[in-house]
Amino acid sequence: GLQAGIVGLPNVGKSTLFNALSNAKAQAANFPFCTIEPNVGVITVPDERLIRLEELVHPERVVPTTVEIVDIAGLVKGASKGEGLGNQFLGNIRNTDAIIHVLRCFEDDNVIHVDGSVNPVRDKEIIDTELQLKDLESVDRKIQRIEKQAKTGDRELQRGLEILQQLKGHLERGLSARSFEVSPEDREKFVDDLFLLTIKPVIYVCNVDEASVVTGNSHTKSLEAAVSSEAAEVLYISAAIESEIAALDSFEDRKAFLGDLGLEESGVARLIHSTYRLLSLITYLTAGVQEVRAWTITRGMLAPQAAGVIHTDFEKGFIRAEVISYDDYIRYGSEAACRDAGRLHIEGRDYEVKDGDIMHFRFNV
Ligand code: GDP
Repeated sequence: GLQAGIVGLPNVGKSTLFNALSNAKAQAANFPFCTIEPNVGVITVPDERLIRLEELVHPERVVPTTVEIVDIAGLVKGASKGEGLGNQFLGNIRNTDAIIHVLRCFEDDNVIHVDGSVNPVRDKEIIDTELQLKDLESVDRKIQRIEKQAKTGDRELQRGLEILQQLKGHLERGLSARSFEVSPEDREKFVDDLFLLTIKPVIYVCNVDEASVVTGNSHTKSLEAAVSSEAAEVLYISAAIESEIAALDSFEDRKAFLGDLGLEESGVARLIHSTYRLLSLITYLTAGVQEVRAWTITRGMLAPQAAGVIHTDFEKGFIRAEVISYDDYIRYGSEAACRDAGRLHIEGRDYEVKDGDIMHFRFNV
């Protein structure tokens, strides 16, 4: 499955946030979370459409889609040089598809800051630098590997070398690989195989005090200014409040608590939705009497590939897809009613599946 890693300096609130995510499971049926390892959990993506479909179809079970969250502790200044357990933690990041970067934006004299003061811009740069240094090693290694061969006159390798040297300069200027401009073809040919850490998409989570969850504060403003060119999402979340919310027993209590804070959704829910968006993921649905289910695909997938997410045989034997939009399904109330109303569309191999499509695949076995 897809995995997002929580990173940040020590004492910024990573484990508090991770625990709030994992505690949310006990209280909310739509947030099941299962811990695979102490620092790895699987969380379902809340999706109201599943609830509406369940009311119409009355299936035996409802299966939401999931994202894995990993708490990557232990990143400190010097991690790229093996400081602390640095290298091991950096390795954990390599396995993730996206990064949730937690930054301390709350004042609290009782919580020691490793660098003596609250300064999310500096903190972000410390983490970025470690990741960039690690990427620099990877790029350097590859440059050394292909330099000799490139001298033999291989055009393709010379082009690769040129791009890698540009990328090296970019990292040396203290920039992350995600902002390196390269064509999709070149990226696929020369960059993707490096599995760089700073190329992964990122969400910044500003861990704020209770009074700042809606408006932010001076720390979040500095951070936003510093990352304005990155086109990354910045969320204000209070990890401390999230753990209080997670501890409330009923849905009504949680809703009232959020309402008092001026929030519609918990930080945990906002974070999951942002992660999903960040990974360019969309959901299609299947609605049968046995199972109403959400399936995760990447935006742009065609019908046979999307069918392959259910089973490889569905992709191999693909004949056609019967597609109903979510809105039509809700309006007419069933697949049969949609068919009668002419709202069930027959689509072939070149159909691009859309978010919320209700799919029924026909295939040869
Ligand atoms: P980690 O090292 O990044 O995993 O940080 P922790 O989650 O262990 O938090 C470090 C300390 O900060 C703990 O004592 C937490 O209780 C406290 N803390 C975490 N989030 C908040 C917050 O939003 N507000 C306040 N005041 N304290 C927090």
